[in-house]
Amino acid sequence: MRTIATGGCRCGAARYEIDLSGAHTLACHCRDCQQHLGAPFSLFSVVPSRQFRWTKAPSGKAAFSDVADRLFCERCGTYLKWEGRNSENEAEINSMTLDNPALVCVDEEIYTRSRLSWIKPLEGVPQYEAGRET
Ligand SMILES: [Zn+2]
Ligand SMILES: [Zn+2]
Repeated sequence: MRTIATGGCRCGAARYEIDLSGAHTLACHCRDCQQHLGAPFSLFSVVPSRQFRWTKAPSGKAAFSDVADRLFCERCGTYLKWEGRNSENEAEINSMTLDNPALVCVDEEIYTRSRLSWIKPLEGVPQYEAGRET
């Protein structure tokens, strides 16, 4: 079953379409996400890259390491998509940029070693101290 959803940045300059069937959603508590989003953790949803397309591509690209780029809107600053140098076959989007973020829920929590002490693990959700065990 196809579950076509749409999303974009705060100002609307960047927009995308995504097929959320089989999407895997992670809560990431790593320091990169905390600093980049200015939030305690990030939520991102992973689908095969063929299930994602920009209808209006964002202009900003930041590389924090040799591992990945982060795509963002230069006009409003919204961070939209993570692009791993070795995972071109996957699209990883910032779940909160979906027009309806309630379409996804958290399947796993990762980098829990840097989770803030006042945030409790989600009940019944697998927890990983670092990245996914894949
Ligand atoms: Zn924008
Ligand atoms: Zn992270």
